[in-house]
Amino acid sequence: MRRIVIVGAGQAGLQLGVGLLDAGYQVTVVSSRSAERIRDGRVMSGQCMFGSALARERSLGLGFWDRECPAVEGIAVRVADGGGGTAVDWAARFDLPAQAVDQRLKMSAWMAEFERRGGRVEHAEAEVDDLEDYAADADLVVVAAGKAEIAKLFPRDDSRSAHDAPQRALALTYVRGLRELPDFPAVSFNVIPGVGEYFVFPGLTTNGPCDIMVFEGVPGGPMDCWDDVRGPAEHLARSKWVLDTFVPWEAARAGDVSLTDDNGILAGRLAPTVRHPVGVLPSGAPVLGMADVVVLNDPITGQGSNNAGKCAASYLRSIVEHGDRPFDAEFMREAFEVYWDYARFVTDWTNALLDPSPHMLELIGAAGGNKRIARRFVNGFDDPRDFHLWFMDADAAAGYLGGR
Ligand SMILES: Cc1cc2nc3c(=O)[nH]c(=O)nc-3n(C[C@H](O)[C@H](O)[C@H](O)COP(=O)(O)OP(=O)(O)OC[C@H]3O[C@@H](n4cnc5c(N)ncnc54)[C@H](O)[C@@H]3O)c2cc1C
Repeated sequence: MRRIVIVGAGQAGLQLGVGLLDAGYQVTVVSSRSAERIRDGRVMSGQCMFGSALARERSLGLGFWDRECPAVEGIAVRVADGGGGTAVDWAARFDLPAQAVDQRLKMSAWMAEFERRGGRVEHAEAEVDDLEDYAADADLVVVAAGKAEIAKLFPRDDSRSAHDAPQRALALTYVRGLRELPDFPAVSFNVIPGVGEYFVFPGLTTNGPCDIMVFEGVPGGPMDCWDDVRGPAEHLARSKWVLDTFVPWEAARAGDVSLTDDNGILAGRLAPTVRHPVGVLPSGAPVLGMADVVVLNDPITGQGSNNAGKCAASYLRSIVEHGDRPFDAEFMREAFEVYWDYARFVTDWTNALLDPSPHMLELIGAAGGNKRIARRFVNGFDDPRDFHLWFMDADAAAGYLGGR
C-alpha cells in the first residue's frame, strides 16, 4: 500500500487525505493543532464556498452541515457613491447555493472523520527536519500548511506573482443579530472606491448560525484600521465604526449585533503569492506544495477555500492516475500544472478585482439594469474561468455589452 504524508489539516490537506484513504492509500496527516485546539481557537477564514467546490466535498461524504448551515443564495452588489448612498445596487441568485461552515467546526469534525476512516493524525508543527523523516519513509509528502512559515520552502514564482506586498488590511468579525437582507440570503458585497470592500454573509459557527463580516481595507487608507485594536469588544466596536462611516446601509442592519464568541475575530494581512510547486529538502528529496502554500490569493473574491477543495480533487486524481510510478519532481510539477490550468484564472481575476479597470466597473454597473449580466457575474464566483470570456478583457467586455 502506498504511503502518503500530508502536512496541514486544513481544507486542502484533510479533503485530500480523506479522498486518498477512500482510494486505498495509507495516509498520515500532520497537524500543528489538535481537533480540540482548532475548535476552541480563533476563526481563520470567511470560507464561503460555492456550488462546485461543495459538490466535491459531498462526493467524498464530507458535506456534514447541509441541513444546519444557512444557504447563501446569491450576491447583492453595492458600490458606495461617496455621499452616504449607493451608485450601484443589485442582487442576483446563484444557480447552486453557497455555504460558509466555520473552519473551526469543519476541520475538527473532518479530522475525526479522517481518523474514523483509518487515517493517522500526527500532532507536530512540522519543520524541514521532520519533512526529511517523512520523505524517507513515505512515497509522497504533500505540504498543505496554508500561509505558514514552512511555505517558504517553495520558492516564489516571480513570473506568476503579480504582487510582493499585501493589497488589503484584512479583518473578520463573526456576529449574531444582523438583520436579514430584504430579498434572499446573500453575500452582501460592498465596494467603497479607494477605501476598500466590506462583505458579509450567513454562515454556521461552533455555537450555531451566524453572520460573517469580512473587511478589506486599502493599505494606508481609513479602513486599514485594526493595528491598534485590543480585544474582542474593541474589535466589534471598530467593525461597527467601519459600517457607520463607509456603508451606512449595512450599519442599519447591524444595530443589534454581538460577537458569536471572543474568538470570532481576526485581523491581519497577506501578500498574494504564487510559488513553485516543488520544495527540495537538504537531502535532495522533493515535496509537493498544495493550495494556499503554492497559490495564495487575496480573499476579496472568496476563492481560497474553494481553490483548496479544487486543488485537493485535482491532486487526488493526479495521484491515483500515477499508479505505482515514483512520485518524483516531474510528477509534482505536472500535478501542479494541471491544477494551475484552473487556478491561474482565479488568480488573474482576483488580482483584477483588487484594482478593477474602468470596463469592469462599467460591467458591474450595467448588471444593475441587466439580469443576464448580473447572473453571469455572480455565478462566475463558482468557476471564475468564465470571467476570461467576457469580463477581464476590455474588447471582450465591449462585445458582450454590445450583444456580440
Ligand atoms: C480574512 C479571510 C477571509 C477569507 N474568506 C474566504 C471565503 O469567503 N471563501 C474562501 O473560499 N476562502 C476564504 N479565505 C481563504 C481560505 O481560508 C484559505 O484559502 C483556505 O483555508 C486555504 O486552505 P489550506 O488548506 O490551503 O490552508 P489552511 O486552511 O490555512 O490550513 C493549513 C493547516 O496547516 C496547519 N499548519 C500550518 N503549519 C503547519 C506545520 N508546520 N505543521 C503542521 N501543520 C501546520 C495550520 O494550522 C492549518 O490547520 C479567507 C481568508 C482570510 C484570511
